[in-house]
Amino acid sequence: MEKKLAAALDRDDAAEDAGMHPDNRETCHTHQCWAHECADHPMHTRPSAAR
Ligand SMILES: [Zn+2]
Repeated sequence: MEKKLAAALDRDDAAEDAGMHPDNRETCHTHQCWAHECADHPMHTRPSAAR
């Protein structure tokens, strides 16, 4: 995993813990990648199954 991505994941995790809405993440905690890279994953295209 690239360092920049790892740092962004940490930052998003912390921000979400602090109350940020998950939709505002720039990374995906589930897939450990940038949010746009898995935006068309079935888990994300069917929000009811997301969590
Ligand atoms: Zn994802």
